[in-house]
Amino acid sequence: MGTGKASTPILIDDRLENSLADFKSSFNEMEAVSEANRCINCYGAPCISACPTHIDIPRFISRIANGHVAGAAKTILDSNILGLSCARSCPTEVLCEGACVYNSLDKKPILIGKLQRYATEYAYERNLKFYKPGNPSGKRVALVGAGPASLACAHELRKYGHETVILEKSTLPGGLNTQGIAPYKMKAQTSLREIEEITHMGVTFEYGRELGRNLDLKDLTRDYDAVFLGLGLGPDSRLDTPGSQLPHVRGAVEWIAQMKTRPSAETKAALQAVKTALIVGGGNTALDACRELKGLGVPKVVVSYRRGEAEMSGYKHEFKWAKQEGVEFWFHTLPVAFDTGRATLQKTSVTPEGQVVLVEGEKMDLEATLVLVATGQSKLDRLLGELKIDRTTGRTDSTKVFAGGDLLNGGKEVVNAVAEGKAAALLIHESLASRPASPSKGATRG
Ligand code: SF4
Repeated sequence: MGTGKASTPILIDDRLENSLADFKSSFNEMEAVSEANRCINCYGAPCISACPTHIDIPRFISRIANGHVAGAAKTILDSNILGLSCARSCPTEVLCEGACVYNSLDKKPILIGKLQRYATEYAYERNLKFYKPGNPSGKRVALVGAGPASLACAHELRKYGHETVILEKSTLPGGLNTQGIAPYKMKAQTSLREIEEITHMGVTFEYGRELGRNLDLKDLTRDYDAVFLGLGLGPDSRLDTPGSQLPHVRGAVEWIAQMKTRPSAETKAALQAVKTALIVGGGNTALDACRELKGLGVPKVVVSYRRGEAEMSGYKHEFKWAKQEGVEFWFHTLPVAFDTGRATLQKTSVTPEGQVVLVEGEKMDLEATLVLVATGQSKLDRLLGELKIDRTTGRTDSTKVFAGGDLLNGGKEVVNAVAEGKAAALLIHESLASRPASPSKGATRG
């Protein structure tokens, strides 16, 4: 892959993710106004504090109720510039809607996510522009990684008037927002549409730039006034199970990215002969992957998780939907060997100390021609050398370097990354205000 500037990322149209329909329909005007009118604008609105970006939810909802949809969109985007993708991808059931007072009245919570989608789509469809860059400050900030944390941070920094360049290793911006969100929640082009607004603010992107390969943190701190590290997480963790290196045993995140961004023929060909797929893991990536495989027509999808249902880290509502869609869950099992087209699993139990151990003798064979490993992603701390990060604030032991997003929090929701990116932008702005611009203004070296 070459390095350098690329103004327009290319996303091909013929992607397999496009064959998966939205699982939630959008509101029409009448439905949106009617739902908005249910909100009682309660005192101390708990929905606001349940949102990591603290969107003024009752305010945007009342604006929808009053027919001021553009104003509603602005209220959302003022707090969360990725408000559209968060409306599509946030686990609202455990965030804003989970905190809505209607739950305590045993009534259906206000459908905040769908109202947020209605308002933000309204603004994007009409190409409404709410923001412009601040007066040039003469300061330049490099942001490493083009995921939600860097996008939110860069947008905020542009409002303060700082120059920003996002340095991204792949050829597409958006990180997991573009390449990882389950297609029945959001397609890659929605993420790119949202990023157009960030580009409109004058944020520039350079693709094919990777820390540790052709980017060096020392060079960045020399050439820029501040650096934001929004690297996210590394590749899928691998299992050390015998046979894990076989080509049909793949990382779930990498497989989802292929399905979302590569030509559909590639993924279709790989799926054609799959009668049974095995997913290994109990988190949200495992739940996304199993539902996607079911949606793409794989007849039998089995999720193997080494602990019990109660210990799964994946959201309960996603688990419920996966079961409704026919996914099988094999709890207390662990793959102990993979062979071509076959996996051997063994029963597990959990010791009183909480350790997972294999139960001798109890083994099961599963014909599985595709195995997706969803046991987490590797951390990228090794790329940071000696740099120490304060994981609460995003500050580091270098006054010029800040961090946020999955690198900091270990992998949370898009909305958490946006909140951290925004918080870092404020820290960076305050820090820049107290310093003269760096003498060196040259471009970074590839
Ligand atoms: Fe409206 Fe529910 Fe928020 Fe109260 S908690 S302001 S009813 S959305």
